[in-house]
Amino acid sequence: MVPTTAPPGARIYSSPLRYVQGPGALDQVGRFAALGHSRAALLLDSFIADEIEPRLVRSLEAGGLVIDCRRVSDEVTAGNIADLAAEFAVGRPDLVVAAGGGKTLDLGKGVSAALSIPIITVPTIASNDGPTSRVIAQYDDEHRLIATPTMSFNPEAVIVDTALISGAPRRFLLSGIGDALAKTFEAGATARAGGLNSHSTAPLSLPLAIAAHCYSVLLRDSASALRDLGGPTVSAELENVIEAVVLMSGLAFENGGLSLAHAMTRGLMAESGSSSHLHGFQVAYGLLVQLTHEGDEAEFERVSRFFDAVELPRTLHDLGAASDDDTLRRMATAAMSAPHARHSTPTASVDSLIGAMESVESTLEERPA
Ligand SMILES: [Zn+2]
Repeated sequence: MVPTTAPPGARIYSSPLRYVQGPGALDQVGRFAALGHSRAALLLDSFIADEIEPRLVRSLEAGGLVIDCRRVSDEVTAGNIADLAAEFAVGRPDLVVAAGGGKTLDLGKGVSAALSIPIITVPTIASNDGPTSRVIAQYDDEHRLIATPTMSFNPEAVIVDTALISGAPRRFLLSGIGDALAKTFEAGATARAGGLNSHSTAPLSLPLAIAAHCYSVLLRDSASALRDLGGPTVSAELENVIEAVVLMSGLAFENGGLSLAHAMTRGLMAESGSSSHLHGFQVAYGLLVQLTHEGDEAEFERVSRFFDAVELPRTLHDLGAASDDDTLRRMATAAMSAPHARHSTPTASVDSLIGAMESVESTLEERPA
């Protein structure tokens, strides 16, 4: 029998086997897929499939792989994953390659888990922390997050073509920055509260160091990176920020744990207005709530000024959400239902979160951006 829980006192860390980043990395996918594999189930985000399919197919075929390719645009539901897995199973693949945005990667992870074969993720935008992790964000048909099952292993490889990501709309990288920036505060809060990471163990110290480095890279290089998007070459600052957003942010959350910033997204996803915003925009606002709850005025000041500078949302108003008493109570109640809401010092409650949200609104609504 394989044990399903870690032995007492054990602390677990996991990561992809390989991480490859640089302009033109898309053309290297076949080289890494060929290492031990011969039949690939290829999932392509239909939004960008026309642009990337010929290159991916050429690369995989050059690696000697037989390809079964499908374009996907569906929601990440248990039913859609089961349907895709059944279709791909006919060709007996020994590897999944998923290329596109978050939904495509999560559908690919679902197929990988269902067929018990490895996955290579190829993110074509850098909007969140998902590509490196075992975690699958699973939704219902109304796009409500209902479960976060995990694959047994992290992706075998994560291949990040920075030229492709540079050409994507600015809001995606901005979202990734908001998601990544919170990690040092969330890993810190988890450690202080004696909380658990995604492996249900206490964190090792490495994820804290990764999250702290992620934060300093983002403060230093984000403004330049955002300016350099779409340029003729990929600048060093843009490379640094993509590494922080895709690699460091992913390793930090999976191994270091999450806290109030991510718990707040549960509330924001349930409200009209805020629900339509990208994950990282919701996390950015959630981080300001977390820092207010912790009473960390210096970091609140630093982070909110940074949000001003790069144009990340700072208030419910910025997110297009209401801020009346009923809405705040609904959001706080939903946030407290997330297990990582327990990773907070002082201990968070519905009332303490309402107080923190009111404080964020009143402090920042009055201050010109
Ligand atoms: Zn996140």
